[in-house]
Parts: sequence; structure tokens; C-alpha cells
Amino acid sequence: GWFTFLGSREARVYYLSLEFYMGRTLQNTMINLGLQNACDEAIYQLGLDIEELEDIEEDAGLGNGGLGRLAACFLDSMATLGLAAYGYGIRYEYGIFNQKIRDGWQVEEADDWLRHGNPWEKARPEYMLPVHFYGRVEHTKSGLKWVDTQVVLALPYDTPVPGYMNNTVNTMRLWSARAPNDFNLRDFNVGDYIQAVLDRNLAENISRVLYPNDNFFEGKELRLKQEYFVVAATLQDVIRRFKASKFGSTESIRTIFESFPDQVNHAFHFLINVLAWDITKRTFAYTNHTVLPEALERWPVDLVEKLLPRHLQIIYEINQRHLDKVAALFPNDIDRLRRMSLIEEGGVKRINMAHLCIIGSHAVNGVAKIHSDIVKTQVFKDFAELEPEKFQNKTNGITPRRWLLLCNPGLAELIAEKIGEDYVKDLSQLIKLHKFVNDDIFIREVSKVKQENKVKFAQYLEKEYKVKINPSSMFDVHVKRIHEYKRQLMNCLHIITMYNRIKRNPMKPFVPRTVIIGGKAAPGYHMAKMIIRLITAVGHVVNNDPVVGNKLKVIFLENYRVSLAEKVIPATDLSEQISTAGTEASGTGNMKFMLNGALTIGTMDGANVEMAEEAGEENLFIFGMRIQDVEELDKKGYNAQEYYDKLPELKQAIDQIKSGFFSPKQPDLFNEALSAFKCCDLVYPQNAKEWTKMVIRNIAASGKFSSDRTIKEYARDIWNVEPSDIKIPPPNEPRDVADDKNPNCTTQQVKL
Ligand SMILES: *Cc1c(COP(=O)(O)O)cnc(C)c1O
Repeated sequence: GWFTFLGSREARVYYLSLEFYMGRTLQNTMINLGLQNACDEAIYQLGLDIEELEDIEEDAGLGNGGLGRLAACFLDSMATLGLAAYGYGIRYEYGIFNQKIRDGWQVEEADDWLRHGNPWEKARPEYMLPVHFYGRVEHTKSGLKWVDTQVVLALPYDTPVPGYMNNTVNTMRLWSARAPNDFNLRDFNVGDYIQAVLDRNLAENISRVLYPNDNFFEGKELRLKQEYFVVAATLQDVIRRFKASKFGSTESIRTIFESFPDQVNHAFHFLINVLAWDITKRTFAYTNHTVLPEALERWPVDLVEKLLPRHLQIIYEINQRHLDKVAALFPNDIDRLRRMSLIEEGGVKRINMAHLCIIGSHAVNGVAKIHSDIVKTQVFKDFAELEPEKFQNKTNGITPRRWLLLCNPGLAELIAEKIGEDYVKDLSQLIKLHKFVNDDIFIREVSKVKQENKVKFAQYLEKEYKVKINPSSMFDVHVKRIHEYKRQLMNCLHIITMYNRIKRNPMKPFVPRTVIIGGKAAPGYHMAKMIIRLITAVGHVVNNDPVVGNKLKVIFLENYRVSLAEKVIPATDLSEQISTAGTEASGTGNMKFMLNGALTIGTMDGANVEMAEEAGEENLFIFGMRIQDVEELDKKGYNAQEYYDKLPELKQAIDQIKSGFFSPKQPDLFNEALSAFKCCDLVYPQNAKEWTKMVIRNIAASGKFSSDRTIKEYARDIWNVEPSDIKIPPPNEPRDVADDKNPNCTTQQVKL
């Protein structure tokens, strides 16, 4: 969730997220500070290789996939635009697990990313704050009180977030859980000192590990603790800063009201509640990131009651007032009340968190046009009927600093030669490249940069994994979290089909292809792990068949993560974006590939729709059902057997999997995976020059997908803040330094 505290010029933006998928920091810092060339040179003079040094840094893998990476791109854009913005999250001791492939299966290893220390962070014990859990609600003279709680301390660690060449540094503040020194020693555990000290782990486990699910709600108590921990610590921190900037420090409003007599107090409490709800709504904005039902958070009431008893009462009261309002507007519409309630009855009673977010915010947005339409007209239709003006779209984006300058310097330089360097801060200028679509020299240069990137990636694979691939083959890349809706299984059926075509007719010309699939499966997601096993099994057969030779290779790319994305994306020819229409909210991987000169094969889903709009549908390979087709088919009833009976090549592929062709030692291994398939027809490219022209048209059309554009839209339409004009002072003049009282100066003194 997002929010801004205060409106207009003095506002600060606070971005709260359970995930910040930052990746490495060294090269990004050098680029944003304009020091990269100087550092390269200095390191070279020392007889060292800077790329080798950069490769030693651990990824900060405090995220699962797109959502966490979006938070990281937004931090870069907010700093680059000079917004006074803070990222708030959890300093997990263990980030997303490291994926190993053993005998074709995924095996997880703990990500002990702090083992060698983290030079980019600074602990700030002076800003430590208490967070309360459990306890009970007591009736007192001055109202209801939450008492007998267990306290966990939130210790902040700050990491600088430099803007691109603008003398601005924002802060990412991540909370680490610490047990108070008297933890467990006050009451029941007195006498067992050793056990009490050992039990400090119970409190400190809150920030131990990132939950490894992407687009899936697991409903574990520890996860709810993590969510409340980051929110409670952050809100206290924000309000502390607000008070310091407005009044110096003052006593709280609560202490003033507590001095009133009871009756007056009752009336005032009502007033304060109304006022608080109004401030809440004007402060918060809710971004929805998925409509998959299995991903939406619905916390069991019993769990919330145990962990946060007073909060549950308040949620009930909020629900009562909300439903009263709905009932007044739609009399006698019981079913609508049931649908719109914050509390879902029937079976386990649950709190629908999306509903709570919608009614508690002044704006609700989706992350691509098609997704925002679904949010407004389907998933939260009733809420849009109640308050249509709340609902908006903000199409996602990526930072061109990391996803072009950093990862693809060859292409970045080529572009700068043609249109200058200003495009880095205004990516819409890429449209100027359109002039060069028919420029033979430019075409050759673009294709040469791609070829160099492919050779470099092939060398990396050979060095690190001892696998040899042919850099003149087409690199067909499908990297993202493994998920049924992302359709890695369909890709696999296509690989088998290509294999069978080669085997059936070995003399027929075939565009040599290296299919690269990579991504982590959530450790508890059985089907996703089976899909990985199928891909490695198919790879084993295809890669060792002498009839196939160099024409087709299948690589499962181990441990896909931010630093590996930076290597594989610039080397890609064909980007696989093939989710079932209506399931991928936006996608951001699709944008990274487009900007780096890959062509997209994809469905009309998420931001692919807008990529096709920008580049022209003829410059992507769009295939498959549109969202209307999916809806119709759902109504009609989907029958997989029909496709199997109708399409002989599909039938063959499935029969082979079923018969154990790819798993001779265990013929029934993939039987269950097969029950999940859906099928589509694909189109293939051929001609080299025409290909590169399409690539240039895509790069020229990718300007919209800068996260700078996304952030400007949030700032204008939701936060009501203005990006500040940062004036860059001459190097030796004293600089303004931001502190709690000076929100418009975001410059912090940071020792790097
Ligand atoms: C961008 C990115 C993602 C998101 O990719 P999608 O294709 O949009 O799902 C996931 N993981 C990493 C490491 C990324 O860099």
C-alpha cells in the first residue's frame, strides 16, 4: 500500500511493501551518481576487473517477483523525480531462497544474504519503536483499552536510494524485529532465565524470512504478524516525523481528550472516530496487484481476534457503518450487503482485506488498462457502483537506469549516439528512433549489439554451468516465477512439438532455436515443481538426440533473480509473455524485454495489450484467446479433450509425456501435470533484417513503460504532490540537508 501524508507541496510519499526486490546496489549507485566511468578506470588502473567485483555482490532478494521488483523500480523513479519519498518494509534475514536443480528437480537453499555483512545499510537504533501483539480488550473509565500485550521492538535499518544524476538521495527504511531485554522475564517465565533468553527468537522470528509465494495467499499467523509489524512501526515513525516537522514535539491528542469527563469524552470519541476515518481515507490509496482469487488476502477472524483483538472490534465497527451506508443506498438488497461486507460468513469467518482497503482509501487503482477494467467492472463491481470516481488505472513501468543503462550499455550507447542522452530521464524520446527504422547502418548496429550480448551470455552459461549453446540460434526466453497461469507448461508442449517436427522431417529447414526457461516455484506449489521437472526431462531428451543436433536446445536457467535477469534479457531474441488472458495483472518482465530489443510472443493480457497499442499489433506476435473468448469458453465449458482430439501434434506431445518418453525410468511421472494443459497455435519469425526492423519499432515504442511515467501519474492523480525542482549546487558549495523538518529537500548526507 501507498500513502501520502498531507497534500500538495509539503507532502511526503510513503510506499509500504512487504517486498523490495532490489538486486545488487554497486553498479546502480555508480550509474546514478555519474561515477561509473571514473570507477571503471580507477579499478582498471589497479589491475582489477570491475565486472568481476560487481559479480561478487549478493542480490538483496527481499522479493518474489514482479511486485517486489516494481517497488524497487518505483524507489529509483521517485528519487530521480525528486519526490520526498520513503520506502518502508521488512529487513528479512533470509530473502527469496536460492534455487538449485538436482536430478532435474528444484531444491531450495536458504538465502543467507547478510552473511558477509551489508555495506549499504545503517542501523538506526535511536528510532526503534515498540509493536504490540496479543493481549485483551479492557473496559476502562476513558473507554476501551488494549492491555496485557506482548511487545516486539522494531529496529530500523536505512539504505540510501540515489536519484539519477540529480543530487538527491531518498531513504528505504527496513524494520528488523528485536525482543525487548525483559522479554519473557517479567511474569510467567521468571526463574527460567536461560529459557527466557532462548525464547527471544519467538519475537525476532517476525523478520526472519520472506514468504516465498508469488500471487498466492497462504494465511499463516507469522505472515499476519509481519504485515502488522511493518504497518504499526511505519505509522508510528511517520507520525513522529509529522509531529517533529509541525510542532516540534507535543503531547498527543489522546492525552488531551483523556482529561475530559466521561460523558463529554463519549461524544468526543465519536467525533474523533469520524475524523480519524476521514483522515484515513484522504491519506491512503490502494493499488490492487492481482485479481486471482487464490491471491487475495482473507484473514480468518479468529486469528485476527487472537493477535489484534482491539483491531478486530474496530474493523467490525467500520463494517457496520459501511454496510449502513450501502443499505441506505440500496434498500432491500441483502445479497449486495453480503457481497460487499468486510466479513465473509459461511465456513471460516474471514476479513476480506481488499474490501477494507477500498473503503479506507480515496483512490483504488489497477496496474494496466485491462487489469483496471477487470477491477472496476468485475472483481470489485459493487464498490465501483458505490464510488465510481475512486477507480483509476496506473500502468506499471520499469526503471530505464537498471533495465537499459546498467544491463545493456551497448544498446544504451547506440541510442544515445542517435538521439542524445536525455532519453534516460524522459523515455518517451525513444520515439525519435523511428526515423532510423530503414537506416541500414543502424539496423546492422542494433543487430550487432544483440549478437554481442548473446555471445557474452553464452560464455557466462558455459563458465558457470558448463552448458554450451549456439549464439547464432534464436534465443527464445521464458523467465518469470513458475505458475500455471504463466503457461510454462504450454511452452513445454510447444518445445515437444518442435522436437517432433524435426524428428519427422530432419532435412526440412528449421530456424535453430535455444529455448531458455527459468524461474522459481514456490516450495509448496507441487504442480509448479512438476513443471520444472518436465522441462528438465524434455531438455535431457532433446539436447542429447543426434538427429536434432544444433537445431533445438532446451535450457532450464537455474536460480532466476534480478542479477540474472540483467544478464539474460539483453541477450534475448524472443520474449515469451503467454499468460491466459485476464490473469496477469500487468507484467513488467514484458517491458524489460521490449526495451532491450527482444520481440514479444504473447497473449492480449496485462500490459502486453498496451505494448501492442504502442508498437502496433503487427510488431508483436499476438496469439491466443482474448479476454472475451476466455469468458465465452468459461461459460460454454472448457473441454481439453476436444483440443487433444482435433490437433494431431498436440496429441502426439501429450501421448509421449504420458507414455514416459521423457521419463523412461518412471513412465507415469507426468500423468498429473497433463490434466492441466490448454492449447494454442503459435507463429514463428524468419527474416533477419525484417526482424531487426521490428525490434527497432518496439524499442522506439517502449517509452511509455518507464516507471518515471508511472510515478508522475501517481503523483498527479492520486498523491497530489509535485515533483520538486532539484537544483544541483556547484560541488564545493554547502548543500541543504534534509531532516525531519525539511521535507522539500530530499538530499541526505550519505557516506557511500
Ligand atoms: C521483472 C522481474 C520479474 C517479473 O517478471 P514477470 O514476467 O512480469 O512476471 C520477476 N522476477 C525478476 C527477477 C524480475 O526481474
